[in-house]
Parts: sequence; structure tokens; C-alpha cells
Amino acid sequence: MIARQRFGGFPAKLPGVSPLSRADLLWLVLSPAYFVFGTARHELAHAVAAVAQGATIVDWSILPATLRGTFYFGYVRWAGGDVTWLATAAPYLVDLATVALGLALLRLPFTRRRHWLSVNLYILTIASPLLDSGYQYMRSLLLDGGDVGALLTDQPAPAVHAYFVTTIALYAAVNLRILGPALRGVMSGLR
Ligand SMILES: [Zn+2]
Repeated sequence: MIARQRFGGFPAKLPGVSPLSRADLLWLVLSPAYFVFGTARHELAHAVAAVAQGATIVDWSILPATLRGTFYFGYVRWAGGDVTWLATAAPYLVDLATVALGLALLRLPFTRRRHWLSVNLYILTIASPLLDSGYQYMRSLLLDGGDVGALLTDQPAPAVHAYFVTTIALYAAVNLRILGPALRGVMSGLR
């Protein structure tokens, strides 16, 4: 109760969104295909933004790969055009839009009547952007480089950090609200 008050009355549940149950956690561990969807969304965002600025895509992968000795979950490489930092930032703007879209879809009566659809939408639109932005931000803090490293070189560092810290905290809060009952079920199962 104290924590809830400290966060200024953030609702205990997201209004209109049904929380997940403990059994739903199975979806999370049984489906590596979700990872490929997340990588495809990320790389497609880079590619669309680069092509919109006149570039040509020369190489891409949405499966885990090693490029010049560095591991990537996926990559896209382009050439030519007048490509700005927006092509690097595009997946993180798409992450934000994906969470907003996911919350809207999860509130629809059509979705709420179909539990399997709610669970899949949750994974693809709420969990996946948190993993994407969170992983990329942590990776750049620990190893330098990557998308966030490039943005930090190009753009004012406080603005880049503020964007990632704010959006990742927002995604984490939304995830915790939806996963709350499932996590409590796991905790009580462990006791
Ligand atoms: Zn990227």
C-alpha cells in the first residue's frame, strides 16, 4: 500500500485489461518464435526509416547472427541515401507506438473475450518492446556501441538517456501491472 501511494495512486490494475494467470507464463517460455517477431519489428523499423531517406538495403537477418565478430539477434545494413539518426532511433519509437497500440487492443471487448489472444498480444506488444529497448540500452551501457551507442554519439546524451530511462520505466510498469497476478501465483507456489 505504501509503495502504491508513493507512485501517486498508479492503479493497481490497468483499467479494462485482464491480468495474466500463472498458467499463462508457459506461453513465455514455450515460444522462441516470439523472439523472431520482435527482431523482425526492430529491423524492419530501421529498414523502413533508412529506405524512406533514400538508402538501399544491402544485407539483413532477423535470426541471431554474428557480424564482424559481434553477436546480434538480427541486423540490417544499408548503403547510400541521406540517412539521419532517425533510422537508428526508429525501432525505439516503434517500441513506444507498439505498447500504445497493444494497450488499446487489450482493452477491446473482442480481445478480452479471447484469453489466448490477450496473452499473445501481451507478449508481442507489451513484453517484447520492454525486452527490445531494455536489452539495447543495457547492452550499450555495458559494452558501448550498438544503436544506443550511435545515438549517444550523434545526439545530446542527456536527451538519449532521458528517452530510454523514461520509456523503459513505463514499459516495466505496464508489464508488472499485467503480470502481477501471475507473479504472485509463482511466489505463493514457491512458498
Ligand atoms: Zn537496432
